[in-house]
Amino acid sequence: MSRIPERTAVNVHWLVRLRWAQIAGQAGTVAVAHFVLGMSLPLAPLSALITVALVSNILIELRYVTGAAAQQRVVDDWQIAVIMALDISLLTGLLYLTGGPHNPFGLLYVVQIALAAVALRAMWTWTLVGFSFLGFGILLLGYRPLKMSPNLDTIGTWVAIGVASAFVVQFLLRITSALSQRDRELADARYLAARQERLASLATMAAGAAHELSTPLGTVALAAKELERALQNKERTVPAEELAADARLIREQVGRCRVILDQMAQGAGTVGEGLATCTVRELVDDILQGVRMRPAVEAQIASEAEDTLVRLPRVAVAQSLRSLVTNGQDAAVAAAPGEPPAVVVNVERRQGRLVIRIVDRGVGMPKDVLARIGEPFFTTKSPGQGMGLGMFLARAVIEGVGGSLSHESSAEKGTTARVELPVDATVPA
Ligand code: ADP
Ligand code: MG
Repeated sequence: MSRIPERTAVNVHWLVRLRWAQIAGQAGTVAVAHFVLGMSLPLAPLSALITVALVSNILIELRYVTGAAAQQRVVDDWQIAVIMALDISLLTGLLYLTGGPHNPFGLLYVVQIALAAVALRAMWTWTLVGFSFLGFGILLLGYRPLKMSPNLDTIGTWVAIGVASAFVVQFLLRITSALSQRDRELADARYLAARQERLASLATMAAGAAHELSTPLGTVALAAKELERALQNKERTVPAEELAADARLIREQVGRCRVILDQMAQGAGTVGEGLATCTVRELVDDILQGVRMRPAVEAQIASEAEDTLVRLPRVAVAQSLRSLVTNGQDAAVAAAPGEPPAVVVNVERRQGRLVIRIVDRGVGMPKDVLARIGEPFFTTKSPGQGMGLGMFLARAVIEGVGGSLSHESSAEKGTTARVELPVDATVPA
């Protein structure tokens, strides 16, 4: 993006070129009028004015166009307006010395105004209109007269109209094409950025799906192994109901996989999922829906929070909170099995925000793990058990909806994950 110039930079670029042409034209006209047409002009003050234009243009060129720091330099509208005001002053000076209102090159005021209209905001353009008006007004008060035959006067008007038109057309055509080139580049850059964003959200979605699918698939693998072992056992000691229960579990978990894939196909659980309004109770039900049966999870929802409405990407947020619960279960399994429940989901409403704490009495985390939690692919679990994406995705989703996620942990007490979510602001407390 940084290579695409600002509109004002494009403008200043063309303004400098135009001024070179202007300066050459002024010098040429003065020379021809004086030396060829013999119109005895005051050469000293005229050269002084043209030199001011020349020096100012060298400075502008160095500062904004070719100089080492030119690319980084920001050109403001007012700076261009100041340059144009200088040109209008110089033009007024030149006209003052060469016949004032009778000089046909008074038309060049219009060129300045046309430039301003393209290059500047309306406010500056109107300011410059006023400035030109004032400049020409000053010429009415007094000027250095020019001895000119009527014939030469008409020819002068003819040349002035030609020059003014050529300037306006040349400049307008070049600047509009430079600006539309810039707009095209901008559109291309935007398109690329949008595509990159889509790719990134696709990658997050894939990672999220993989993370979500790993739990039911793990259960399926386990149940299938048990089933296989029982069926290989010649004595058939395992009762038929238990085999049927394993098969049912597999069917249920496969169904769960189907649901996850369906949600994925609808774009749910991704950055792009639409917002839905639901009660806190419904959200907690969503969380618990896909959670493993063991070790046990208990939900405690404060009565004032139960019917609170939240507006958020429901599937994605439920998925994120569920991965916090799953982590708690994993930690509880890793610790010595204690009294159920292993994980408590506690929900309260505090100062217009929803506070959800997921508390486990598991193994806890040492400081270095606590510091790295949420880094993508950071896991302390063995391959196949954890991918290290749960907290990374959960944080992205929760912070994406304006919430926050933090962990508190110790080896003795276990871990508390604390999530704060904004409450639907459109519903009164
Ligand atoms: P994964 O669960 O796939 O390993 P996560 O991003 O969910 O990935 O978690 C990253 C790591 O953070 C885990 O491997 C674990 O070491 C640690 N962790 C997260 N939650 C808990 C918890 N409740 N108790 C103990 N450790 C945790
Ligand atoms: Mg996890």
